[in-house]
Amino acid sequence: MTTISVLDLKAQYQSIKDEIDAAVLGVMASGYFVLGPNVKALEAEVAEYVGCRYGVGVASGTDALRLSLAVLGIGPGDEVITTPFTFVATANTISHSGARPVFVDIDPRTFNIVPAQIEAAVTERTKAIVPVHLYGQPAEMEAIMDIARRHSLYVIEDCAQAIGAEADGRRVGSFGDVACFSFYPTKNLGAYGDGGMVTTNNSEIAGRIDVLRRQGGKVKYYHEVLGFNSRLDEMQAALLRVKLRHLDGWQAERRRVAARYDELLSTLDVVTPVVRPGVTHVYHQYTIRVPRRDELHQFLKDRGIGTMIYYPLPLHLQKLYHDLGYAEGSLPVSEEAGRKVLSLPMYPELTEEQIQRVVEAIAEFLSGGVR
Ligand SMILES: *Cc1c(COP(=O)(O)O)cnc(C)c1O
Repeated sequence: MTTISVLDLKAQYQSIKDEIDAAVLGVMASGYFVLGPNVKALEAEVAEYVGCRYGVGVASGTDALRLSLAVLGIGPGDEVITTPFTFVATANTISHSGARPVFVDIDPRTFNIVPAQIEAAVTERTKAIVPVHLYGQPAEMEAIMDIARRHSLYVIEDCAQAIGAEADGRRVGSFGDVACFSFYPTKNLGAYGDGGMVTTNNSEIAGRIDVLRRQGGKVKYYHEVLGFNSRLDEMQAALLRVKLRHLDGWQAERRRVAARYDELLSTLDVVTPVVRPGVTHVYHQYTIRVPRRDELHQFLKDRGIGTMIYYPLPLHLQKLYHDLGYAEGSLPVSEEAGRKVLSLPMYPELTEEQIQRVVEAIAEFLSGGVR
């Protein structure tokens, strides 16, 4: 029995091997390794792709968040509203800044933060909102930007899972004051190591992120502010430039896979992803909801099919955030999602035969013949 993994990065490499290999050798021969011409070119290309004026390459998606919070002056005494149903970096960067993360619940259909809940959580200490476009589906940015304008709050978009996703004809990352992207290998635009980017339409913010990432100074060995070492390297940038040219094709393949899953799963007792009207989902994950989720996860594993649980425990209930004082049951939709979500194999190279095998195995489990 051949296995079907949840993700297959080798298949993608094989499909673009010649271009990638040439780019690697080009960087080796160039003598530029950190923040060189490829980083500069990638910054312009990603900014254009997103629909922003500026891009600033940094060491990871986590650092993109960390530097964005720093540049907006968010720190001790401030509150930042975000979702608990996300990867930990969305919130732990807020904590590292000295501010307090304030968690509000999600929409049970889309898993994204609910604008009305954000509004209800605003206090005089609130400084910013960090919406996450989870699994590749845009959050409700129009409503979120409206709340931000009325209360004079910053918006930092966490676009780590959603590069290229659109809402009302605009790509995510072009709505907020700043947007944060991750090029972690498993993301839709993934490097061969760590990487990230901040995009913005504000030249002052872009300039200050640039200074922050290089030890707080524009001129070497002269430091204006307390900075960080958070640089994107040339190798990753060169490889990402190759991959960016293929990204739209891969996104289309992800949507093909999702459409097949939608169709084949429609007769089964599982909840398939709900896509809001007017948005383009880029299916970083294809996530279903099922009762007896853990049993199904194990059942598929025993049949050589990899699935993942993003995320089993929402952040407000993590030990890390015990001191924030959220009780179990306080954000019930996120907690319920944590018990029921299961992300199926999803990558552009997934074949029709593999998709069918995944669905057949789920059907077999649900038919109850197996316990
Ligand atoms: C991956 C991810 C991050 C962090 O990105 P890294 O590059 O791994 O640091 C942040 N937020 C979300 C929602 C993510 O999925």
